[in-house]
Amino acid sequence: MSGIYIHIPFCRKACHYCNFHFSTQIQQLDAFVNALIREIAMQEKYLNSPIETLYLGGGTPSLLQEAHLDKIISAIDKHFNLSTLKEFTLEANPDDISIEKTKRWKTAGINRLSIGIQSFQQEALDWMNRAHNTTQSIQAIEYAQAAGIHNISADLIYGTPHLSDEALLKDIALLNQFQIPHISCYALTVEEKTALHSLIERKKIDNIDTEKQARHFEMVVEALGENGYVHYEISNFAKPGHESMHNSNYWKGIPYLGLGPSAHSYNIHTRQWNVANNQLYIHSIEEGNIPYEIEKLETSTRYNEFMMISLRLLEGVNLTALTQQFGETYLAHTQTIVKGLQKENKIKLTNNGFAIEKHARFLADGIASEFFIV
Ligand code: SF4
Repeated sequence: MSGIYIHIPFCRKACHYCNFHFSTQIQQLDAFVNALIREIAMQEKYLNSPIETLYLGGGTPSLLQEAHLDKIISAIDKHFNLSTLKEFTLEANPDDISIEKTKRWKTAGINRLSIGIQSFQQEALDWMNRAHNTTQSIQAIEYAQAAGIHNISADLIYGTPHLSDEALLKDIALLNQFQIPHISCYALTVEEKTALHSLIERKKIDNIDTEKQARHFEMVVEALGENGYVHYEISNFAKPGHESMHNSNYWKGIPYLGLGPSAHSYNIHTRQWNVANNQLYIHSIEEGNIPYEIEKLETSTRYNEFMMISLRLLEGVNLTALTQQFGETYLAHTQTIVKGLQKENKIKLTNNGFAIEKHARFLADGIASEFFIV
């Protein structure tokens, strides 16, 4: 099985914290979609197994007009076998969602919406420079559910200055009340080359309170756990059976094709990524070339990625799978590090291998880096 990711690199407004690839030059959408259609045809041989998941991410895919979406879906259907497709996700921002649009999305085959709610607190939304407001978030959920799309994921961002502990719990309670089956919760991070980074550097706003973030993380884990959500990945919580298939396949190391500017593709042996520049992408595709760079994945790189991904998952590292993929030398290296981390009470043993202790999950990326081979 494999998956397809399509990056729609346009947004109405630049959120202050965002370091994804996007442009606010929405007038380029037509030219971009035409280039994307050509890339879909050019990449039809990249995957050699049936497609299980299709994911329209961004940027803001909900900016696509009906004609754009029809063209994209027809091209995918023409060049790939979609008879095995199980999950078709579209990322949407609340200010784009209407009852008509959600009905059209459902008819087009989209069976999962990932809505960028981020917070129901208007002050927090304003601070992040989001394009939507609280009322639009609530309406977005109501419209999607009225159209018959119940497989919804909501994004939340915690640790922002205006988000109190009480407000965070209220946000979670509201999502639970709406019976949202999947919630992705992210700590606000300050990435270089973002407006947020510049505002902090220029002392226009205070730096992020990391203690508050750690506390919010604990609160999120507890509140969602009490409401029946399984913490299946460090930032992802789902009611049983509603885990994201697309992302879970990515974390299992299943091949995927990425289309559009900045999109990454992976086929076990190599990883490649398209240029993160809309003009260059469109121009190059018009000339018949996909503008990408490629990296051959050495065993040590694959091992580092395996550890990074596995340790973010609830089930942790499976030592049988590790040995099959990387051999006895890597197993011995892993076991040596595990012993040290067990003494520090960061790792616990499981039936198949080991996982991060619940109280240390906020530190998952740092713990994973202790295993890295450089
Ligand atoms: S809508 Fe999403 S992709 Fe666009 S700027 Fe905001 S966070 Fe970034």
